[in-house]
Amino acid sequence: MGKLKGVVIGSGFGGLAAAIRLQASGVQVTLLEQRETIGGRAGQIKDSGYTFDTGPSLVTATEIIDSVFQHAGTTLRESVDLVPLDPFYRVHFYDGTFIDYSGDVEDMERQMAVFNKSDAQNYRRFLNDIKPVFDAVITDGLGAMPFDNLKTFAAFVPRALKLKAYKTVAGYAADYFDDFRHQFMFSFHPLFIGGNPFYSPALYVMIPYLEKEQGVWYIQGGMYELVKAMASVLVDLGGIIRTATPADEIIVKDGKAVGVRSGDEIIDADLVVSNADLVRTYTNLLSSVDRKKWTDKRLDKLKQSMSCFLLYLGVRQEYPELKHHTLMIAERYRELLEDIFRRKILADDFSLYLHVPSRTDRTMAPEGGESLYILAPVPNLRSGTDWDQAAGPLRDKIVKYLEEWGLKDLEASIEVEHMFTPADFETELLAEAGNAFGIEPILTQSAYFRPHNRSEDVDNLYFVGAGTHPGAGIPGVLLSAEATMKSIREDHHLETPILRDPVIVQ
Ligand SMILES: Cc1cc2nc3c(=O)[nH]c(=O)nc-3n(C[C@H](O)[C@H](O)[C@H](O)COP(=O)(O)OP(=O)(O)OC[C@H]3O[C@@H](n4cnc5c(N)ncnc54)[C@H](O)[C@@H]3O)c2cc1C
Repeated sequence: MGKLKGVVIGSGFGGLAAAIRLQASGVQVTLLEQRETIGGRAGQIKDSGYTFDTGPSLVTATEIIDSVFQHAGTTLRESVDLVPLDPFYRVHFYDGTFIDYSGDVEDMERQMAVFNKSDAQNYRRFLNDIKPVFDAVITDGLGAMPFDNLKTFAAFVPRALKLKAYKTVAGYAADYFDDFRHQFMFSFHPLFIGGNPFYSPALYVMIPYLEKEQGVWYIQGGMYELVKAMASVLVDLGGIIRTATPADEIIVKDGKAVGVRSGDEIIDADLVVSNADLVRTYTNLLSSVDRKKWTDKRLDKLKQSMSCFLLYLGVRQEYPELKHHTLMIAERYRELLEDIFRRKILADDFSLYLHVPSRTDRTMAPEGGESLYILAPVPNLRSGTDWDQAAGPLRDKIVKYLEEWGLKDLEASIEVEHMFTPADFETELLAEAGNAFGIEPILTQSAYFRPHNRSEDVDNLYFVGAGTHPGAGIPGVLLSAEATMKSIREDHHLETPILRDPVIVQ
């Protein structure tokens, strides 16, 4: 019998990781990407000496990333140049105060004591209490386990209750901290993966623990170096990557996925893994298949995550007042999140996240300049916002706000400018409702209740990436590749790849 053939649709981090794991397990993989370039949300813009990562910028959970490289017979350390960041971020609050957030417990306690002494005293207890959550999701591998049957889920329920997964992240943090700054610092992380801290389950409190244990890193040259490194190991293993090749249909025979059609071409497959948007996979690529679980009506009920408005500015001056990662939090923080997630209105105010890699890496901007990435969380397209109309005024408001905040002569210093709106998430990345992070991470869309890594409607069809378990974020989608692989292993007899020894990045 010849090699099994697998088609992976989409070259996001999840698609690349699944392709590497499959190819390393003896499956001949063809990866199809509809865009001209690979990486999905992790794209790159190069313009007049400025380099911008278009999506993810924070590198965490290096051990999870390393595990993908080990499957390709190499290591993360050998593949990219990692730089530790300290602080991880600087968070500016609306009242002019700020916190430099890092993994240094004593320094965090010292900063917290200025705002609230008992909060500072509670910090170690908080860390102690969130460790079991980290152990459950990461050490014991629940994040990489396909939650596709009730037995697995039922076994997890007592543990989830013990870990207080029924609480929200914000509710969990409020049990330890009184000061609004500390409540924010230890609960905002779901926003990095498209969740509202006031609705996301407390399992996400493990992210601050993960950051403290494994650090926050930068990859020299930017995040796109990781995309290129993963593509290169896939190709070295014998995998095939085809860009500008959209999957137009998943071919199903007798209830089984048997190939993919792109234009007039049919690519045969023994198994298909979709890294494309989950809703779009069912509605566009499997439109003629009779779906028992994921009917159009049911898909429509899924809550899509928020979207993002992104500005990439190449500026002719340096702004040392900005850290590598800077957050600016609006006074109306909680209500603004309601506007974004539930009321779905584009508000007049905003919170911002700025990524300035040129603070760490001078190759990212011409000498004396800065590569500025500005992200404002905004509602997805279910808000009905016309982005052709809204983008310009929002851009002007953000630039003006940043000038008033302290970035002197920002407008006059702009040499290069690009923009990405929720409408672009839909047209460029084919994301349902222009979501930036797949399906929203709420309790009723998590674990067993999230669309499974193995399709419930079509045999030999699997999902990987932000729309399936465990969810968005680079660590999330890489864990999803591991979970998907476990399902594929159960269904097909695959070789076990020979792994390199784990490398702890310190
Ligand atoms: C602005 C932004 C900032 C972020 N910041 C961080 C961060 O700092 N750290 C972090 O860990 N995470 C971050 N995230 C989240 C993280 O980037 C994503 O969750 C993750 O990269 C998504 O990977 P994915 O595997 O789901 O694939 P995606 O990146 O969604 O890629 C899917 C791919 O499928 C392709 N595709 C779709 N349909 C088809 C088709 N029919 N045929 C062929 N190809 C198709 C698309 O073109 C795309 O390339 C950020 C996300 C955004 C949007």
